[in-house]
Amino acid sequence: MTTANHTNQHVLVINCGSSSLKYQLLNADHTTEALASGLIERIGQAQSTLTHRHGSHKRRIEQAIPDHAAALDAMQAAFVETATPLSETNLVAVAHRVVHGGEKFVAPVLVTDEVEKTIASLIPLAPLHNPANLQGIRTARNIFDNLPQVAVFDTAFHSTMPEHARTYAVPRQWREQYGVRRYGFHGTSHSYVSREAARILGRDVADCNVIVAHLGNGASISAVQGGRCIDTSMGMTPLEGLIMGTRCGDIDPALIFYLHRQTGASFEELDQTLNQKSGMAALAGESDMRAVEAAADHGDADSQMALEAYAYRIRKYIGAYTAALGRVDAVVFTAGIGENSPGVRARVLDGLSGLGIEIDQEANHTPGTTVISTAVSSTKVLVIATNEESEIAQQAVALVRHMPDAD
Ligand code: ADP
Repeated sequence: MTTANHTNQHVLVINCGSSSLKYQLLNADHTTEALASGLIERIGQAQSTLTHRHGSHKRRIEQAIPDHAAALDAMQAAFVETATPLSETNLVAVAHRVVHGGEKFVAPVLVTDEVEKTIASLIPLAPLHNPANLQGIRTARNIFDNLPQVAVFDTAFHSTMPEHARTYAVPRQWREQYGVRRYGFHGTSHSYVSREAARILGRDVADCNVIVAHLGNGASISAVQGGRCIDTSMGMTPLEGLIMGTRCGDIDPALIFYLHRQTGASFEELDQTLNQKSGMAALAGESDMRAVEAAADHGDADSQMALEAYAYRIRKYIGAYTAALGRVDAVVFTAGIGENSPGVRARVLDGLSGLGIEIDQEANHTPGTTVISTAVSSTKVLVIATNEESEIAQQAVALVRHMPDAD
């Protein structure tokens, strides 16, 4: 490992979607500090927007941004306009979030042509995400051709799942030839939050068992034993598991064949419906949890049932993961809903005192409180803000600094 002085080294984290690009510039040694961040939306449409924040500077630009190369150009221009050109920020790496690493990538990797090819070969497993992630990598490699580019995979943290937890009971040929197995997603969040939980509990990560509920638009829950994921609710794709904003989560797979036969809907249509028109959107008519909670408060019966179904699914997983872990030191809530909705947290944990999980309602309703369990709760309940960019940056920096020719 290098002993060089790393003062003021930075890392640029890029998260590329099909029509969006999020970025953050972070200090390489204090990755929880984002020096600048931005979001470019509606890439490829007539009116794209770029929102850039750098300290107290905020820029919002509306212009046509036809593709991801133009988006990275616009990002660079925004840095120049806020008086910190990227060329002067001592970048050590560009780190890319990649959704699916398949069986090939179980750790961050330095991007090469070969790595790009392998990520491309995984597109069938993540047809919505990997092409956009790859687009971001290709474009950034052209623009920042003197910098190491690191791919950090959403699936990697879950690669420690034991075979019995990651295996679907389907024919061997499907498993061996087509990569049919459970992979899990949101790995950088589960990794970051489970480590933070151990720190907050004052325990060694290796001696800490936690259940992490990442509840955002997409949602997943994982069982982490001594820092290693032993199970998670998303599967071969992000569709499995919890009820989400627009995804159904666990269903009987036979309903797909049933609906195909009954309605004549194509598999593509059914795929789209289960991913984009199901979940809370289907049950409550709204995918946004704030809107669902507001409607439920105003007496809307569908929204009330949707909230109960949402919470019940999470509660079932907590029960299952308690059995898988044996001992649970903490249940942790994170992401948009987990961090901000006391109502959801209370519903999820309602009636779990038999498992030694008891929520303190006052703490739960006090924004900014980290420990929201009662003093007698043998399993602590924590609220921890996730920071996927920080985790991605940290993993990328660790990789480039361990490279043989690092500074
Ligand atoms: P993404 O998966 O897109 O990153 P987020 O982690 O930002 O999503 O979470 C978005 C979800 O968080 C939305 O359903 C939103 O309604 C919910 N959310 C944000 N703030 C609150 C709040 N104060 N109360 C309830 N839900 C909230």
